[in-house]
Amino acid sequence: MKLLKRKLTKGDFHPTLMQGVLVRIFVTAIILVALISLASYFYVYNQEKEKRLGELEEYVMNRVKSDSVIFELAEDNLEVFKKEFLRLYTSDVEVTEEDFWNLYFVDEEGATRMYEEQFTGVYTGDGVYRYGMSSFIGNNQSVDDPDFQRRLVLSYRLLAQLGPAWVNRFANVHASFPENGIVLFWPEVPWGLKAKADLPMNELGVIRAVSQEENPERKPLWTGLYYDETAEEWMITYEVPVDYEGKHLINPSHDVYLTDIMDRLISEHPDGGYNYIMRKDGYLIAHPSGPTEEQKWVGQLSLEKIDIPSVIRGYNLIKEGADEGEHPVHIIENQVDNSYLGVGEISGPEWWFVSVLPMQVIQDVAHQAALSYFLQGIFLLFVMLGVVYVVIRFQAETPLRKLRYAAEVIGNGEYDKISNQDIPLPLKFKNEIGLLAKSFVEMATNIANSKSQLEKIVDERTRELEAANAQLQKLSYLDGLTEIRNRRSFDMDIKNCFQKAKTENERFCLMLADVDFFKLYNDVYGHAEGDKVLKQISRAIQEVIGDKGRVYRYGGEEIAILLRNCDAEKVITIGEHILSYVRSLQIPHQESRYKMVTLSIGVAQYTEDYNSPEELIKAADQKLYHSKVMGRNQLSM
Ligand code: GH3
Ligand code: MG
Ligand code: MG
Repeated sequence: MKLLKRKLTKGDFHPTLMQGVLVRIFVTAIILVALISLASYFYVYNQEKEKRLGELEEYVMNRVKSDSVIFELAEDNLEVFKKEFLRLYTSDVEVTEEDFWNLYFVDEEGATRMYEEQFTGVYTGDGVYRYGMSSFIGNNQSVDDPDFQRRLVLSYRLLAQLGPAWVNRFANVHASFPENGIVLFWPEVPWGLKAKADLPMNELGVIRAVSQEENPERKPLWTGLYYDETAEEWMITYEVPVDYEGKHLINPSHDVYLTDIMDRLISEHPDGGYNYIMRKDGYLIAHPSGPTEEQKWVGQLSLEKIDIPSVIRGYNLIKEGADEGEHPVHIIENQVDNSYLGVGEISGPEWWFVSVLPMQVIQDVAHQAALSYFLQGIFLLFVMLGVVYVVIRFQAETPLRKLRYAAEVIGNGEYDKISNQDIPLPLKFKNEIGLLAKSFVEMATNIANSKSQLEKIVDERTRELEAANAQLQKLSYLDGLTEIRNRRSFDMDIKNCFQKAKTENERFCLMLADVDFFKLYNDVYGHAEGDKVLKQISRAIQEVIGDKGRVYRYGGEEIAILLRNCDAEKVITIGEHILSYVRSLQIPHQESRYKMVTLSIGVAQYTEDYNSPEELIKAADQKLYHSKVMGRNQLSM
């Protein structure tokens, strides 16, 4: 284990299997999730854009349709009024002066007004209940003209008859005249009684706009928007000029409450968007931020007075695109303000109903979707990493650690631990790892078997080798010819004897024996015969010495004998025994003076005076020389 624990420095960081896999999965998945989120952003953005613009178009279409209803109804009503009035006016119906003054009186300031009972409620002769009616003729206007009187009374009758049925959805219905006069059905407001006596109605813009001079085409008109303080309502007036044979008779009119439309403008709008209404000439009719107090009195907001830049830009864009195609609703992209404008025309006053959808709304949805995809992706990624972690941890890392440990154990030569399954191995895995573990066990078993077999063979070989060695060693100390110890053996032994004698005070003797006239023997009998003689003599000396000492071939035909624990007497006895024994062999040697093979012997006994084996050998050799000189076949000491 220690072997495999390498110290990791910053420079050679090697990630583990786990780290490698987890980091790869993490990086790949993050890139994928990011790409998917990005793709989903654009996909959802386009989907959402298409959907929201479709909805915007439908919404504007419906709003325009429903907001137009009230104006269309006003136009329908006044068309009926016009028809009925002309029928009455051109009929034989007479209106007397008495009829007129039954309804009107002149006040202190000279204005002619309708009696109050016509407003508060009164039953007529034929049992009809009249209420909500008022009328005012300015004090600058004469009422003497019978035709004017007739038109006033006829319009009164028609308004009293139709008004109650019409005003549930309108503020009022009234009729103005080219003269400075007006008749109203307006149950909430007694307008005719309240108007200032010198009010020049027909000189004001609203009524003058339908005069023959101002309006030669005799077109019905929607007036500008105004805030009626009495009713606390935003209103607009629709006026239809009615002429007969070139004479301007009357202008039936509806005052239309716009509060509903404006409330709805603010309260009902697409999610995240808002609506506003503009007149085609750039007057802002309604906007959620609302007109200020002083603008209420102006009653309308011209383009120059609007301080909402997005509305001004929107107006310009709508104007550019207004003529394009017949489609009732235009979708216009306002890139400066990052929004889409759904534009439709409210029929009647021909206003533009504008619904603003900020692109941000679509972007938010796309962002939300992309974020959601991203978060889901990240969540999945972490779940995946968790699963991978667990799988690698338990299916790979742990079994691999066991296998690594097993490999180490094998490396240390402890095969049995594996083959006996003393250490845990992932054998239960039914996959490559399980197979690998099984292979480990098999391998360890095989190696263990081979090892024990090998050990047996080695043991056997070692024993053989030891025997051979012993033999070899024995041989290395023996002389090949004579089979007694050789010179090497002698050198070693005499050294040991010398040492022992020095240290342990052991006594020993050295005897040197030399064959006499051996050169001559060889010359006469041949070298092979000489060898035989050498063998014979060696054997003879060995026999004599037995275990009293050791016999060596010192060189050529010289033989050395080492005798332990011997005294001079004993040595001489042994030496003499050797000489006589050789003689007793009776080996013929005709060139010898003794006519047989004989030996000469020199003996030296160890004393403390000798400082080296060489000195002792030299001494023995001198004694041998002495024996030779003295006639051979003898011993000197
Ligand atoms: P001396 O009596 O003075 O010893 O006379 P010698 O002839 O024996 O002495 P010398 O030293 O002159 O000669 C020794 C001879 O021994 C010479 C050699 O031929 C013979 N010799 C030595 N080794 C062997 C051997 O292994 N075999 C045989 N056959 N002859 C040997
Ligand atoms: Mg010799
Ligand atoms: Mg000799």
